[in-house]
Amino acid sequence: MASSDLTPVDDAISRLVTQARPVTDTETVALENSLDRVLARDYSVPADVPPADNSAVDGYAVRAGDVAEATVLPVSGRVAAGEAPGSFQPGTAVRIFTGSEIPAGADSVVMQERVTVTEDGITINAPVSEGQNIRRRGQDLTQGELALAKGTKVRPQEMGLLGSMGVAEIEVYKKLRVAILTTGDELVDPGQPLAPGQIYNSNRYTLLGLLAKAGCEVALCETLADTRDGTRSTFERAAAEADLIITSGGVSVGEEDHVRVVLEEAGSLSLWRMAMKPGKPLAFGSIEGTPVLGLPGNPASVLVTFLVVGMPLIRACQGRPSISLPGEQMPAGFSVGNPSVRREYVRARKGIGEDGPVVNAYPNQSSGVLSAACWAEGLAVVPENTAVGIGDTITYYSFAELLE
Ligand code: AMP
Ligand code: MG
Repeated sequence: MASSDLTPVDDAISRLVTQARPVTDTETVALENSLDRVLARDYSVPADVPPADNSAVDGYAVRAGDVAEATVLPVSGRVAAGEAPGSFQPGTAVRIFTGSEIPAGADSVVMQERVTVTEDGITINAPVSEGQNIRRRGQDLTQGELALAKGTKVRPQEMGLLGSMGVAEIEVYKKLRVAILTTGDELVDPGQPLAPGQIYNSNRYTLLGLLAKAGCEVALCETLADTRDGTRSTFERAAAEADLIITSGGVSVGEEDHVRVVLEEAGSLSLWRMAMKPGKPLAFGSIEGTPVLGLPGNPASVLVTFLVVGMPLIRACQGRPSISLPGEQMPAGFSVGNPSVRREYVRARKGIGEDGPVVNAYPNQSSGVLSAACWAEGLAVVPENTAVGIGDTITYYSFAELLE
């Protein structure tokens, strides 16, 4: 088949993202349960963070002007963190601690290491400049500003930021409900004996892990026999229960491959065959309005196509903005001799070459070899129609980045 029949990877991704059906239902979760959820509204800052000027060190709050005149200052008070500060008497020092609110009238804090404590008070042994060691009110967040935008995925630091704003309950989109349908008469679940001709279903577990990492809920997880009617009826049932259907296998041209045909007959097919290696046979369409991503059957192809084209689709369905992953530009520690019309994603990891960091490839890149993916920590890209030599600059994406 001519290369023009293959959709370039970037075109395939934009087509999927355009046809994604973002979740619109929302729910409220406690802040402690908000990790990896997607914000369903903008969060603006209700009040300055921090709410008042406070000390960055343990020491003494003073007025810088007083120190220039007399370096011995009587200690007139004490403010522990959490206490409301009393009033400040000019010409004195107030004992203060990290996080204590600065008493009104004081304008600087002297670290206790710069001070000698005597019976008369403190002697300051260093120059004092106005504002030193004070963390200003609102230095982190200012009242009214946008802190986090709708569509943001909550990481630990976003949880902390929301906490610092005093927000206890978070409005998030409902988790994307995904149906996993693995297809193949040869598949047997682990734990069962294998009869001749059978293999264990591995894609199911790869997909369960990937979807958990991607913050999705598994609405349905079934294995389909290679029949037209069974495939169609399970697709229709899954379409009613899930926001997105992901299948593996059955997208090639053999007479036992029913996924593409059922999409054409009972729904719609908008993409088939990509200029990607591994992952040429890949179908995308919909059934009763629910998007269906038909991944190839080979175990390594499932992982790679999910990460490269499935994740942008999932991000869009989760109500998140499109992101363009920068990857890392690194010298190749391997070579690929024959240029291909397909963009190749090589299971790879970083290593140290003679001249510094390089990206190494697992020697066996067969799409049936999943152990290469366990050795790997990411994917290196061999661009379309390009040979790669050792030392050539290529782009490397870590698995963590691809799963962002
Ligand atoms: P297919 O596209 O259905 O012809 O599948 C391509 C290859 O992937 C065949 O060798 C299948 O046996 C294998 N395969 C398909 N589905 C799975 C699965 N769930 N687990 C492991 N291997 C699979
Ligand atoms: Mg099959």
